[in-house]
Amino acid sequence: MPARDQKEMKLIVSEIRTETPEIKSFRFDLGLNKPFPFRPGQFMIIKAEVWNPKRNRMGPVNRAFSLSSSPTDEDYIEIAAKRYEGGRLTPWLHDSVKVGDVLNVKGPEGQFVFTEGESDEIVLIAGGIGIAPYRSMIRYILTKGLPAQVKLLYSARTPADFAFKPEFDAAAQGHPNFHCVYTITRPAGLPWSGRIGRFDEAFFRDHLGPVGTLYYLCGPDRMIKEQAQILTTLGVPYPMILSERW
Ligand SMILES: Cc1cc2nc3c(=O)[nH]c(=O)nc-3n(C[C@H](O)[C@H](O)[C@H](O)COP(=O)(O)OP(=O)(O)OC[C@H]3O[C@@H](n4cnc5c(N)ncnc54)[C@H](O)[C@@H]3O)c2cc1C
Repeated sequence: MPARDQKEMKLIVSEIRTETPEIKSFRFDLGLNKPFPFRPGQFMIIKAEVWNPKRNRMGPVNRAFSLSSSPTDEDYIEIAAKRYEGGRLTPWLHDSVKVGDVLNVKGPEGQFVFTEGESDEIVLIAGGIGIAPYRSMIRYILTKGLPAQVKLLYSARTPADFAFKPEFDAAAQGHPNFHCVYTITRPAGLPWSGRIGRFDEAFFRDHLGPVGTLYYLCGPDRMIKEQAQILTTLGVPYPMILSERW
């Protein structure tokens, strides 16, 4: 049974943007489906009929994508999707879906959310495409002028692999309550004056918030376990760590 507030919608793709060599943003007009309430951090399911190479025919695929737009973007929703080579849905999404196409979308779902008033200190920890739900939270907090202090710790392979970096940098300039710290794991010969290296204990120690800070983790299971382990070693109480496994 779908949750009470979920909707199945046919939505028109109104914009596609290339964010990085592997990540594209897809905007869907809400049209008559407005208003579409959701909480920053929730996800949608994209349902499509795509080629199934194992069965040599078309077949249904459902995949979850975090909403990367904010509930304050009232006319549309957006997702940011990484292209997985050999994947069923994302090569189709990247290579075949065009502006004007209609997609089946269901949601919203998920408890990995920013909740107003829960804590005024939050640290968002993102690797690669794990940035998607945080873009929603950041846009929401800054657009609404909420008092939360937000620190984004964002890691990507190379400087070219950061999605939304110009937007975050501009937001950080204009909002003293928002800070971004970037780190790359492979310099790849590109200009980069920031930190190089994976998230590790020393890095997290440098960016711990005060008592009462909420830490958000999202991505593959192994990465979340590793990062949660480091945070708890540094004294962060387990209930202050929120996570979503992809
Ligand atoms: C709550 C949630 C939110 C998410 N939000 C986002 C988001 O915002 N953006 C985003 O990009 N993704 C997100 N994801 C991940 C997304 O749902 C998909 O899992 C992802 O996009 C891959 O889908 P796909 O169909 O392209 O690849 P899949 O077909 O699922 O394959 C994924 C990878 O596994 C490999 N693979 C598949 N089958 C096998 C096999 N039998 N043996 C070996 N390798 C195999 C493929 O080659 C591919 O590289 C989210 C997931 C969850 C659960």
